[in-house]
Amino acid sequence: MISLYFHIPFCIHRCAYCDFNTYAGQEPLIPAYVEALCREIKIVAFSAPERLSAHTIFFGGGTPSLLSADQFESILKTVQDSFNLTPDVEISLEANPGTLTLDFLRDLRTLGFNRISLGVQSVHADELHQLERIHDTFDVIEAVTWARRAGFDNLNLDLIFGLPEQPLDRWQATVNFILGLHPEHLSLYALTVEHGTPFGRWAQRGLLSMPDPDTAADMYEWAGEALEAARTALADIALYPDGAGFELKAALARKHDVAANCITMGNGSNDVLDLVARVFLAPGSEAVTEMVGKSTLGRSLTGRRR
Ligand code: SF4
Repeated sequence: MISLYFHIPFCIHRCAYCDFNTYAGQEPLIPAYVEALCREIKIVAFSAPERLSAHTIFFGGGTPSLLSADQFESILKTVQDSFNLTPDVEISLEANPGTLTLDFLRDLRTLGFNRISLGVQSVHADELHQLERIHDTFDVIEAVTWARRAGFDNLNLDLIFGLPEQPLDRWQATVNFILGLHPEHLSLYALTVEHGTPFGRWAQRGLLSMPDPDTAADMYEWAGEALEAARTALADIALYPDGAGFELKAALARKHDVAANCITMGNGSNDVLDLVARVFLAPGSEAVTEMVGKSTLGRSLTGRRR
């Protein structure tokens, strides 16, 4: 049994802390990207020695919610034609709360999506502003309300802790507020300041005041207790700003299990680089090729695989 991950590398705006494989202002490339992704799905599936069965499908990014329902329909149809899907297949969409509408969520539900993962990060306007997120807390409340109304009974909300100058009580306020929205799942991430991002440059110039690792540890520890009390399972891995790992055994087991059997496709995929290269470099997809050339995938093709 396998998991499928599709990377959608488009965002409206690049957040100040983000070093993900994603591109802002490239939305005109989305139709060509979807076509290329469908070609890749077919080639990967038909290259396998036998028809593979998938039990989870995850669209991550980037901001996958920038694709239209029609584009998701065409990707999912290609997936159905190429793989066996279990009757209880979980189909997840990573979404930016600022990009959703009720109609779009209803369309996704009709297409078979049954899990939405929202990048919430914080409920404080100043923190969202500092991160350069495009959404506000009202968008989050609206997105959760609409998702429930559209029939989604499996919601994940992402939160980030250890923000610059963030005291423990503001993090506690974020977690408590989010628990009030009754998500099925929360993913908590410690902010890491990445080289090459605006946050990285500001930190280098001494313009960002990061919380000390002990405060970040207190935030994580407190959240663990709060979530346990709320009977919400932690199921992801957070890294403290100093890079020391903090692991939850169950979370790691799940993550390793998924990773071991996961096929990733799209820009930046690490699994099928050479194969993907042939797909993306197919005649007629120059625009996508140009974008891929700037990506992890593109760098790997020139021998600098990371
Ligand atoms: S929305 Fe997510 S992927 Fe896009 S720039 Fe912001 S953090 Fe990065």
